[in-house]
Amino acid sequence: MIACLDLEGVLVPEIWINVAERTGIEALRRTTRDEPDYDVLMQARLKILDEHGLKIGDLQEVIAGMGPLEGASEFLEWLRERHQVVILSDTFYEFAAPLMKQLGYPCLFCHSLVIDDGGRVTDYRLRIGDGKRKAVEAFRLLNFRTIAAGDSYNDTSMLKEADAGILFRPPDNVIAEFPQFPVARSYDDLRREFEAATARVFSA
Ligand SMILES: [Mg+2]
Repeated sequence: MIACLDLEGVLVPEIWINVAERTGIEALRRTTRDEPDYDVLMQARLKILDEHGLKIGDLQEVIAGMGPLEGASEFLEWLRERHQVVILSDTFYEFAAPLMKQLGYPCLFCHSLVIDDGGRVTDYRLRIGDGKRKAVEAFRLLNFRTIAAGDSYNDTSMLKEADAGILFRPPDNVIAEFPQFPVARSYDDLRREFEAATARVFSA
């Protein structure tokens, strides 16, 4: 069994929103909800970083100050004692690094940034489109069962592909649109949902 977890909103806060808050740069608050074209959004973000002279080191310092969500480390430790855990995220390794350190370096599949010698973020590289779902599909080919948990739209294809899917603290519109998934509001709920899903998957 492999437990597949989303990162932002499940184990750590939303990274860009926190960077916006901590740097005071309001324009960085824009998300895929405001700009559905991801490349347009990312190019705008890179331009804003340049305008403010923010280098990767500055960003990592800000991100290190965020820390995991309260109870996330304990939950992850609990889960890793029971299953193999892989974090499937649409963030970047360079952003996640300071948070991964605080979570004990779990296995993370995500994207990467292109950084020049001076630390300037010049571009980004997506590993593959729809990577969360494709990872679950690949685990099945390797004869693994999967239980996936995530909080948002970009997790729903992964949740559908998995043997069992769980929503963690999702917005109401996601609950309404995907009523087939159980909803966990706390890490205690999430532990219970993982236990229930494990029992379901292995009795099927
Ligand atoms: Mg998320």
